[in-house]
Amino acid sequence: MPSDSTTNTGKVFLVGAGPGDPGLLTVRGAECLAQADLVLYDGLVNPVMLRLTQGRCERTARTRRDNVVIVPQSEINARLISEAQAGRTVVRLKGGDPFIFGRGSEEAAALEAAGIPFEVIPGVTAATGAGEYAGFSFTHRESSSAVAFVTGHEDPVRAESRLNYQALAAFPGTLVFYMGLGRLVEICEQLQIAGMSPSVPAAIVCHATLPNQRVIEGTLKTLPDLAAAGNLKPPSLIIIGECVRQRQKLSWFERLPLFGITIGVTRPEDQAEDVALRIIRAGGEPVLMPMIEVGPVNKHSETEIARVLLQLAKFHWLVFTSVNGVSEFFRHLHSARLDTRSLGNAKVAAIGPGTAEKLRHFGVTADVVPSEYRAESLAKALEKYVRGKSVLWVRASRGRDVLPRMLTDVGAIFAQLVVYENRDVEHFSADVARRLSAGTLDWIGLSSPSIARRFAQLLQSSGQPADNLKTRIATISPVTSAAARDAGLTVAAEATVYTWDGILQAIERSHE
Ligand code: SAH
Repeated sequence: MPSDSTTNTGKVFLVGAGPGDPGLLTVRGAECLAQADLVLYDGLVNPVMLRLTQGRCERTARTRRDNVVIVPQSEINARLISEAQAGRTVVRLKGGDPFIFGRGSEEAAALEAAGIPFEVIPGVTAATGAGEYAGFSFTHRESSSAVAFVTGHEDPVRAESRLNYQALAAFPGTLVFYMGLGRLVEICEQLQIAGMSPSVPAAIVCHATLPNQRVIEGTLKTLPDLAAAGNLKPPSLIIIGECVRQRQKLSWFERLPLFGITIGVTRPEDQAEDVALRIIRAGGEPVLMPMIEVGPVNKHSETEIARVLLQLAKFHWLVFTSVNGVSEFFRHLHSARLDTRSLGNAKVAAIGPGTAEKLRHFGVTADVVPSEYRAESLAKALEKYVRGKSVLWVRASRGRDVLPRMLTDVGAIFAQLVVYENRDVEHFSADVARRLSAGTLDWIGLSSPSIARRFAQLLQSSGQPADNLKTRIATISPVTSAAARDAGLTVAAEATVYTWDGILQAIERSHE
C-alpha cells in the first residue's frame, strides 16, 4: 500500500473483522490485510482470517484468558504509532465493528494526535451478525421502531452502574446488550423494577455467526435461570424485545447441514483451504490436522534446483499447484541470486486463488487460474496452450500424477521441479490431542489409505485407544475404508463420490 506521499510514514488501517464468520470481513478489509506488514488483532477476531495476510500477526488481549499476555490499551496505541513511524503498513484488526464498543475511536484519536495517517474500515457488528444468523429482526415493522446497542459492562473501575434503566425500560424498540452476561441478573431485574413487563421476550446469543453459536430464549423473568442452567460462554449478547418471538421462522444458520459439527481435515495444510471453507459455509467447524507436513528439500536437490533455475527462460509455461510451491520456488530463486527476470517470457499457471495470490506477492500475475481448484481442471485449462510447448511443474515431493499424465497426453514437453518435501507429521497438535480425548471433535475425514494408516499410528502413539474413540470416521472411498479397518479403526461413513466433497456429503447424510 503506498505510504504517505510526503514522508516515509506508514499508515494504520483500523479494520472491523466482523463477529466471527470469516466470510463477514469486508472486501476492503481483505485488501488491507493483503497489504499489511503487521497485523495486530484482538481476541475476538477469528484467526482463520489471518491467512489473508503475508504480514506478521500478533494477538492483543485485554482480558485474561487462554494464557494470553494482556496488552494495555496505551501500549497498543503506542505500538500502532511507532510501527507506522517506522514506515510500516499496519492493520489493527478488531472484532465486529471498530467503533462499536471497541475502543477503535480511542485508537484513531491517538493516531490523529501523533500525526499518523489512518483509515477506518467498518465491520459487521456482533448485534447485526447475531440478528441475521440467529434470526432476530430488531426493527421488524410490526413490533419495533428502534434498536439500541447498550453496554452491559461499562468501565470496570466505575462502581456505580450508570445505565438509565428507566429510559431503557421505556425504549420503544429492541435492546441489545453487549458485554452483559456477567450482569444478566441485574439487567433483567432492573428493567422489571423500572416497569418493563416480566413477560417481554428475551434471548442470549453466544458465539454468534460461528459453528458453536448458541441461542437461549425466554422472557425477562426466566432468562437468568435458563442462562445459569445453560453454562454459557462469552462472547454473548442479550436481546430483549418482541423480535425474539420471530426467531423460529428466521433461523437459517442453525439449519445448515453441518451446523455445529466439528470436522478434522487431514489434508496437507496448503490444500486444506477449500475444504475448510466448504465446511464453514455448511455451518461446521474445520479443524486442520494435516498428516503430512512441509519441509525443505535436501542438499543434493538444492543443487539440482539451482541448475534448473538457471535455465528457466527456456520454458514456455511454469505451473504452480500450491502456495508453498510458490514461496519455496522464490526462496530458491533468491538464494541463487536470481529474481523474477529469470522467468523471461514464460507464462504462469496457478491451481487456485491462494496460489495466484502468493504469486502476486512476488510480482507475478498468473495467466491461467482454473475456475475449480483441482489438478484436473488446471490441466483442462492448460490443454489448449501447451501442445509442443515445454512446461515446468513446480511441485512438492509427493503428489498426484494428474498434470503430467493429462498434459503429456496433449503433447506438452513436461518437466518437474521438486522445491519442497512432504513428510509424515510426528504427532497431533496439542489442540487436536485435547479435542480427541475430550470428545469435542465430531468427525475426521480420511482421504487416502496412507492417511488412514498414518492417523491410526498417531492415535496409537498418542495413547488414544482406537476402539474408544468418540470421534467418528468418514472415508473417501471403499479402498480407504478397508485400510482404516485394517488399522483397527471403525468407519462410520463412506463417500460415494471420491472427493473431499464426497466425504462431507457422507457426513451430512449421517446427520439427516
Ligand atoms: N466491536 C465489537 C464489540 C466489542 S465489545 C462489535 O462491533 O461487535 C465485545 C462484546 O461484543 C462481547 O462482550 C459480546 O457482547 C459482543 N460480541 C462480539 N462478538 C460476538 C459474537 N460472535 N457473539 C456474540 N457476542 C459477541
